[in-house]
Formats: sequence, C-alpha cells, structure tokens
Amino acid sequence: MSTPNEPSFRESVDIMFNRAVALMDLPPGLEEKIRVCNATYTVRFGVRLRGQIQTFTGYRSVHSEHMEPVKGGIRFALGVNQDEVEALAALMTYKCALVEAPFGGSKGGLCIDPREYDDHELELITRRFAYELIKRDMINPAQNVPAPDMGTGEREMAWIADQYKRMNTTDINGVACVTGKPTNAGGIQGRTEATGRGVQYALREFFRDEDGVAKTGMSGTLDGKSVVVQGLGNVGYHAAKFLSEEDGCKVVGIIERDGALTDPKGLDVEAVRNWIAGHGGVSGCPEGTHIENGAAVLEMECDILIPAALEGVINQSNAARIKAPLIIEAANGPVTAGADLILKEKGCVIIPDMYANAGGVTVSYFEWVKNLSHIRFGRMQRRQEEARHQLVVDELERLSHHLGDAWSMTPDFKSKYLRGAGELELVRSGLDDTMRTAYQSMASVWHERGDVDDLRTAAYLVSIGKVADSYRAKGL
Ligand code: NAD
Repeated sequence: MSTPNEPSFRESVDIMFNRAVALMDLPPGLEEKIRVCNATYTVRFGVRLRGQIQTFTGYRSVHSEHMEPVKGGIRFALGVNQDEVEALAALMTYKCALVEAPFGGSKGGLCIDPREYDDHELELITRRFAYELIKRDMINPAQNVPAPDMGTGEREMAWIADQYKRMNTTDINGVACVTGKPTNAGGIQGRTEATGRGVQYALREFFRDEDGVAKTGMSGTLDGKSVVVQGLGNVGYHAAKFLSEEDGCKVVGIIERDGALTDPKGLDVEAVRNWIAGHGGVSGCPEGTHIENGAAVLEMECDILIPAALEGVINQSNAARIKAPLIIEAANGPVTAGADLILKEKGCVIIPDMYANAGGVTVSYFEWVKNLSHIRFGRMQRRQEEARHQLVVDELERLSHHLGDAWSMTPDFKSKYLRGAGELELVRSGLDDTMRTAYQSMASVWHERGDVDDLRTAAYLVSIGKVADSYRAKGL
C-alpha cells in the first residue's frame, strides 16, 4: 500500500501536469483553466432490492469541455470516490488530445462491488444510475458519452443505451450516447479488445524506436521478452493474450486480487483466464506456482511490467524494488507521482497511461462515428476493393501463364490480397495508425528536447499544447 505522504490520485495527476507546464510558456490563467475540473456531479439514489431500499452513490465528472461531447468510462468499484473520478476525468482530457480523438475529458463511477449482485439486480442499479445522469444531460450523444471501465463492460453499456432510448424516443442518434456496446446493439467490432490491443501496438511501436529501447538497456524486438501483468481483466487479459500469442512474449507472472501465478517458462494466459472465470481468482489454478502475496510479484525480475488493474499500485513504498526496465501503464494511474521520480532515477522507462491505454477511447471514437453515420465501416467499399484486386490477380495470372510456373502466386498471398477489409480490419488499422502517430509525437519531444527526460512529461507537453490551442481557437 502507499505511504502516508503519498499524494492522492488527483494530486498525483496535478503534480505530473505541473511538471510539464513548468516547461511550457502558457499564460497562468490558461494553465489553471486547463488543469481544473469543470464540474463533478454526485448522485445518490435508491433501488429496491431483496425487499428493501438500498442507496447507492455515483459520480460523473467533467474535466474539460474544450471539445464536446466529453468522453470517459464508467467504473463500478467499491473504492470509487470524487478524487478518483476527477483524476480519471483529467487523464481523459489529456488522453483524447494526445490521440486526436475529438472529445473533452469526463469520467463516471458508482460505489458498488458488482460481484455482490446478480444480473437482474445489476441491471436495475445500472438503469437507475443511467436515468439520473441522462435526465441531466450527463449522458447524451452530443454532450457526454460514457464507455466501459473497471467493473463494467458491453452488457452495462447496452443497458445504458437502451435506457437513453426509452427516455429519448425520437433521438435518431440515441445509440451514440455510449460506446463499448455489444455489436448486436450498435457496437463496433474490436472494441472489447481495443485497450489491450492498443497496449500491444504501443509496445510494438516502442520497440521500433531504437533510442527509446536503448534507454531501457534492452535490445531487439518483443520476441522472447518476459512480461508480468497485474489484473487479468479486460485490458490485462487482451494485452497478455496478444503479446504472448502474436509477439513471442513470455507471460512469467499474472497478479490478481487473491495472489499471483508465476512460471519462468511462460503461463498459458487463456487457461488462467478460464480458471478465473470459473473460480473467481487464481487460487488453486494448476498453472505455474501460486504466490499468496501478489504485490511482491510486481517486484519480480522481468523485461516488461504491465499494471492493468488499478491506480497507485507502484508507489513510494515499493518503487525502489521494481526491477523491470520498462513499465507500460495499461491501468490509469498505477504509478504515483512520487514513484515516478524514484523509477526515473533508476533508469526505468515508463510508457504513460494517457498513451498506453488510449486504444479504448480510440475505438470508442470509431464506434461513435459509426453510430452517427448509421453505417458499418467497410460496407460500401469492401466488395469493390475485392473486385479491383481480382482484376489485378487475373491479369497477373494471364501474364504468368506465358512466363511459366516460377511466376505463379502462392495461394496464401492470393487469398490475403483478394480479401477486402471488413470492419475489424479497418478498426485495427485505425487503432494501429493512432498508436503509432501518438507515440511518434511523444517520442520526438522526449528525444529532441534537452529538458524532457521521460515519456510522461513528453505526453503531457503534447496534449496540453493541443488543449491550449483549442482554447485559444475559441478565443479564451
Ligand atoms: P476489469 O474490471 O475488466 O479488470 C480489472 C482486473 O483487475 C480484474 O481481473 C480484477 O480482479 C483485477 N484486480 C482488481 N484489484 C486487483 C488487485 N488489487 N490486484 C490485482 N488485480 C486486481 O477492468 P479493466 O476494464 O480491464 O480496467 C483495468 C484498468 O484499465 C483500469 O485502471 C481502467 O481505468 C483502465 N482502462 C480500461 C479501459 C477499458 O476499455 N476497459 C480503457 C482505458 C483504461
């Protein structure tokens, strides 16, 4: 746990913000306007459950409306509080600016342990929370568009979308009031995997940056790198799965609420995920060795540490013992401002949350655009693209007929080349492009400015610069 003099999550975000603005030349008024949270709405509501009324507390915070709608997930967890929601809303502002998703920053949360309720009860609670937010325009396709976060997923988003439609029956864009919906309810393919997929694309791009990799003391590609992941939920599971199945990484440690599993030869991510789904935790799992004190595994020898659970897990009390030369913040705020300095001194490179987990909001942006355009990506072009490719293949085959077998195409090439891009391919392509471009904008500041020695400060400089530009354009 964190030490007593550890700043709160929101203070941590402000400290990191201040470190960056100290290197910028912003008028003090504008600097404050960008930093402060515009509004936080607290709602307390009752739901009749198990024969009695239970009262719940929820929040929706809007950090910056320099662009609208504002965007940010809704978290269901017992630890949700105003400070946390405001910190997460601020991170959303910077994240959207960094990856050029045209949104302001927002975040919501409900103090609840979703595991204590059955599906029907959760639906009643979610719909009631959504009702409170919708009637105040805190969920609205043009003003405020939530998404999943810890403890919520596509099921909750479908309930929210349906609740909005019941209350706004003539809003033709109603389904765009929330993202992360199931594909049969207005969602987009690739959204569920998006944040984990974005972590994979971020790491791939990092390993293309030779100067960046050199700062970690590592070399080569992702192939063979050892990985420890904390939290095998939506983000952690997808990141660990893709890195091990597609990039040759070895997942040597998985940390969950009830301890950790380790195996120097690499754990089977799918098997562990299935075990957790059936047993609620990693205890008793036949994969690897079970370690009761999960937090100790954060300090294990590995190449890449992926905290993908909650904030503040790497703090002043354990930062000095972290051995990984590279940390990618898949969760929001897993490294406190104090720990950040300790790690920097040790030479550890941190790929910051506002970039690392931006895959979720990026694909949410695609989903919102899809909902507003009322058409699936690729629907108009796919077959036309295939027909044009077929023309080229037919022509090459006609020519190769005269040139002999040595010039014939392999069947694998032919089928891959002929296939027109469907929605999933387009989403992944757009996500990959976004993650590469955003990395490059950050890395150029990191490598080129003598007064910037970490990626987080570089990321803040890029994003604050963009938010400042939009305020200036508004004449503020
Ligand atoms: P999730 O609820 O799907 O998964 C969280 C996982 O962490 C669960 O498996 C849970 O058991 C585990 N966990 C909880 N407390 C833990 C502890 N003390 N130690 C170890 N494991 C613990 O949540 P998620 O959607 O994967 O979100 C995880 C993080 O990623 C959060 O910080 C969230 O804000 C961030 N994030 C999520 C998205 C998204 O699209 N879902 C997007 C951006 C950022």
